[in-house]
Amino acid sequence: MTKNPQILLIYTGGTIGMVKDYQSNALRAFNFEKLLDRIPELLQLNCTIDTFSFDEPIDSSNMNTKSYVEIAEVIEKNYKNFDGFVVLTGSDTMSYTSSVLSFMLENLEKPVVFTGSQLPIGHLRTDAKENLITSIEIACSRKEGKPIISEVCLYFEYKLYRANRTTKINAERFEAFTSLNYPPLAESGVHLDFNEELIYTPTQTNKSLIVRKSLNENVVVLKLFPGITKKVVQSILEISDLKGVVLETYGAGNAPTYPWFLALLSQAIKNGIHIVNITQCVGGSVILGHYETSVGLKDIGVIDGKDMTTESAIAKLMYLLGDEILENDFKSIFEMPLRGEVNF
Ligand code: ASP
Repeated sequence: MTKNPQILLIYTGGTIGMVKDYQSNALRAFNFEKLLDRIPELLQLNCTIDTFSFDEPIDSSNMNTKSYVEIAEVIEKNYKNFDGFVVLTGSDTMSYTSSVLSFMLENLEKPVVFTGSQLPIGHLRTDAKENLITSIEIACSRKEGKPIISEVCLYFEYKLYRANRTTKINAERFEAFTSLNYPPLAESGVHLDFNEELIYTPTQTNKSLIVRKSLNENVVVLKLFPGITKKVVQSILEISDLKGVVLETYGAGNAPTYPWFLALLSQAIKNGIHIVNITQCVGGSVILGHYETSVGLKDIGVIDGKDMTTESAIAKLMYLLGDEILENDFKSIFEMPLRGEVNF
């Protein structure tokens, strides 16, 4: 370990590295090398920063499982030579991307901090500088020779969150993310305050990083709304090769008790499709069986998503379905916390 932490900054795209195309008036990605030119303050940090950029930076709306693997492989390839990683992506799908990465990176013992910004780096009132500088500072932070953070996090607007607990809740405000079911791991004010008791600490150290790259894309999010028809539910559950469904229910995990609805779900489960109950609310938890309107779901074997976010549930489905888990064990493994994504 060198004295000065070595940080790898990975740029995948997003507003943080965008400029305005004055002909079309649209934002487009620009050459990442210019990002460092724009923030000479980075040179003042007590660390060495190397950069890696996607060949073609993308708007985060274009993220997919290939991009997830690409990010994971950059971290895997550079894991031994760097002390921490800061990943820049667009904020729109950052919670999805960082949630998936939290599952893909097993035995992680170094910080992986996702960040981005609402305004481009060159904008007068940009939030990019603070987000980037503090993310790097977090990735460099050490205590007794060990990194303070050894999990996948998301830093935005003065708060560091466990990534797989976050949701983007605002397209306008600098405070774009929230994590209502898990408090911030750190807050940046005059000091950078870590809430150490909330931060994951590896129980055993010096384990090798395992990167799980097999992700199953045969998943879907089915959001309930009053008036949803049998035709809609049926056509979704009959998608060929479908393996997993995040069922976004109401309140504490409630859904219609119509016989056709429960019969369709029950048949899908018998056909080997895993259905996870996640609440549409941003905060709080599914409590299966608490109301009569969730007893039926519990009885047919719907997975209890408890207080997981939709982003984390879809990520966990992709990850666990990509693994060779015995069908009978899937439900109990899914309901267990794997990366601090759910309360137990
Ligand atoms: N559309 C952009 C993206 O997600 C927004 C952002 O960077 O925050 O890539």
